[in-house]
Amino acid sequence: MKAATLHASLTRRHFLQAAALGAVAGPPTGRAAEALLTGVPGGKSFAEPARTLPLVNDADVIVCGAGPAGIAAAITAARAGARTRLFEVHGCLGGVWTAGLLTYIFDFNKPGLAREITRRLDERAARRSQNPDRFVYEPEEMKVLVEEMCAAAGVKFQLHTRVAAAFREGSRLSTIVTESKAGREAWSAPVFIDATGDGDLGAQAGCGWDVGQAKDCPCQPLTMNALAVVRDAKALAEFTSFNGTDAFTGPGGHLTCVEAFKRELKRAGVETSYGHPTLFPVRENLVMLMLNHEYGIKPWDAAAITEATVRARAEVFRVMRALRQLGGRWEGVQIAATAEQIGIRDGRRIHGRYTMGRQDLITGARHADAVARVTFGVDIHADSRTRNDVETISHGDLKMRPYDIPLRALIAKGVDGLLMAGRCISGDFISHASYRVTGNAVAMGEAAGVVAALAAKSGRPPHAVGWSEGTAKLTQMGQRG
Ligand SMILES: Cc1cc2nc3c(=O)[nH]c(=O)nc-3n(C[C@H](O)[C@H](O)[C@H](O)COP(=O)(O)OP(=O)(O)OC[C@H]3O[C@@H](n4cnc5c(N)ncnc54)[C@H](O)[C@@H]3O)c2cc1C
Repeated sequence: MKAATLHASLTRRHFLQAAALGAVAGPPTGRAAEALLTGVPGGKSFAEPARTLPLVNDADVIVCGAGPAGIAAAITAARAGARTRLFEVHGCLGGVWTAGLLTYIFDFNKPGLAREITRRLDERAARRSQNPDRFVYEPEEMKVLVEEMCAAAGVKFQLHTRVAAAFREGSRLSTIVTESKAGREAWSAPVFIDATGDGDLGAQAGCGWDVGQAKDCPCQPLTMNALAVVRDAKALAEFTSFNGTDAFTGPGGHLTCVEAFKRELKRAGVETSYGHPTLFPVRENLVMLMLNHEYGIKPWDAAAITEATVRARAEVFRVMRALRQLGGRWEGVQIAATAEQIGIRDGRRIHGRYTMGRQDLITGARHADAVARVTFGVDIHADSRTRNDVETISHGDLKMRPYDIPLRALIAKGVDGLLMAGRCISGDFISHASYRVTGNAVAMGEAAGVVAALAAKSGRPPHAVGWSEGTAKLTQMGQRG
């Protein structure tokens, strides 16, 4: 029996047990509660009583997770005519762009939404470069922009709401359960998109998945980003990457700035856990700091993520205090914000109808159902402090050629009615280390959104929708230019 079906039948059994105890319609009270709590022998597990939940069935497409992939999927599905709901656990839309304080976008020179977001950021003077492919942006402006775009498209989005469970009818994903201050609520739809980054929905629905280099990780490290107010960012130009040039090497290039910043940190008497400590130029008086690596953390281990978050935040403050004590151009520097969500690079990669692999990168794979062409190389951050001291970032020991992501890598294998977009699509460790950056996440979200809308509106599963239909619809919507 598959996981989700098993879960459903177990839940039914618990429901009947609970009903017999009179506990279905609300929280158990008095003797019923006592009976339930003492009913589990050994005290090592708790048989949660089933409850009857309110069920909402008003959407054609439900998108779970509102990072770059999720907002792109929801906006596109809604613009394509689908009644679209979007659920996000944090208090803002944008995922790593906003709650993660990323501030730097890679691989963005693509048609459609990427170009539109670039233009809209420029209209707000919230982008720091003329380069359409990679640039610094202001995270607070991004928050407002994506809210406005979702609202204008007619997306019904709900913040502070976690997708907690998924249920299938046969092989078709039919219903999800969310948890929020409103309690547990059930939502059904013909098509769902997993844009949770960590593949929560695919795993809940019973899909197979991989993570990191092997089932039990090791995974890429986590990183806590932070914004710092400075008196004059120009005075820090020598340490600030992507400040007038997007080059990685050479005078003024990223790695030159990193080396200069490391010398400055040494002068301040501190060392960072990330071997490439980086300053990004956000505004005249605002920089983003990427200083930290947290090793050996599994992306579903909430206790370990909590410890990593506390450790990382302390490191960011320790480094800032040390720099401030240098005085001069560091005088008055202070943390303005640390990320609400520590950045998680590696999550579950849900098995799809095609699995991207290192060979795709070596051959520069081309596909008839290509939804995006990846130009960003392999970026593997060290998985331990020891490794970080030898080689902070490696590139997979291969020469990458720009390659395609096929629509099939976005369609779940074995579970119907489920698409993936962003970090959690189907791929191996090496290809994920390349396609995961946010330009590709947006392109994937767009593709998943339009295919989901076409599938839902025509009563077909996503795998029955040809990508030529998807591109035709995007062209009609003006999302190909
Ligand atoms: C430290 C760090 C640095 C990076 N540097 C860059 C860079 O410079 N440039 C670049 O382009 N990319 C960079 N990346 C990669 C890139 O940011 C991610 O791979 C990208 O965020 C993928 O987008 P996504 O939408 O798939 O995932 P995410 O941005 O992670 O979004 C997932 C969203 O789903 C929500 N969510 C998760 N689970 C649930 C649930 N159960 N219920 C409801 N909501 C849920 C999350 O809160 C989040 O908002 C970096 C990543 C990290 C971590």
